[in-house]
Amino acid sequence: MAFGEFDLIDTYFTHRWPKRDDVVKGVGDDAAILTLPSDSELIIATDTMVSGVHFDEQMPARAVGHKVAAVNLSDLAAMGAEPAWLSLALTLPEMDQEWLEGFSHGLREICDYYDCHLIGGDTTKGPLTLTVTAHGFVPQGTALRRDGAKPGDWIYVSGSIGDAGLALAAQQRKVQISDSHYRRVLERLYFPSPRVALGQALRDIASSAIDISDGLKADLGHILQASNVGARVDVDELPLSLALTESVTGEDAIRYALHSGDDYELCFTVPESRRGVFDTVLARHPAKPTCIGRITSEANKLRLERNEEPWQGADEKGGYDHFG
Ligand code: ADP
Ligand code: MG
Repeated sequence: MAFGEFDLIDTYFTHRWPKRDDVVKGVGDDAAILTLPSDSELIIATDTMVSGVHFDEQMPARAVGHKVAAVNLSDLAAMGAEPAWLSLALTLPEMDQEWLEGFSHGLREICDYYDCHLIGGDTTKGPLTLTVTAHGFVPQGTALRRDGAKPGDWIYVSGSIGDAGLALAAQQRKVQISDSHYRRVLERLYFPSPRVALGQALRDIASSAIDISDGLKADLGHILQASNVGARVDVDELPLSLALTESVTGEDAIRYALHSGDDYELCFTVPESRRGVFDTVLARHPAKPTCIGRITSEANKLRLERNEEPWQGADEKGGYDHFG
């Protein structure tokens, strides 16, 4: 008998997945039944990856599985949420068991790591498209938002930015880089690490937060717009990896950091009054936050500076916009 939809769900998405006690019923009924923790708010994010738009045939199935979960967990991280449950809508052009094996493996690995329970989904035939919805919690009233930045707050970025964009440019042969740098940045494009622990640690410290999916300039721009404030950013303070600075000119490295997306670091603001706590609790966090500038009162104005003068290397390009 042919391997059908229910065999697929049973084989790849039911057994050997992490189980949580707050899931009364997961895969196998018309809908999932979940127990909500008291005094919490539910945080929900959805992200889709479409073949030919967000990834291509070169991307290993395991990486696709990892990334479609990681980008959702990154949204939860940017809200300060603790992840709990995922659901998966899978659209496949054909029954490809080798691809499914890799994809489910990548997805399960990251679910195992963050103790996320796959609570259900949908399976359909069509152009290869993956949609994940991630659910998490925050204690009531503590979620990080984009609209809380105030003039004088310090602006931070976790990890380093620009690497995933460099990987994409190298893959498309727009730049030539060494094999070892390519391996390193490709890992960041294919297997991004959502800043889940950092996001939760920032709940009572940061005044606003966002994850960097479309590029720092665009994503910090969302904070500025939502908070009705401006920012000054010193381009020489942007956290850049060795792989990036050794592969392109200094000015280009800054442009990658500002304009390329897919890094899934956090950009957040810390009020002066919380900076002492931040420095003692988080300055040595493994996600290595770097201070890049300060929030100003000039609504929607992002000033890129070098030595307190306007930086001359700016171009007008924003972040990635599907309809732009
Ligand atoms: P229904 O027809 O009632 O919508 P489905 O046949 O779509 O039910 O799904 C049967 C069960 O399998 C449901 O519990 C659903 O959540 C789960 N499921 C379907 N597809 C997936 C998938 N790709 N990953 C995880 N669970 C899935
Ligand atoms: Mg269904």
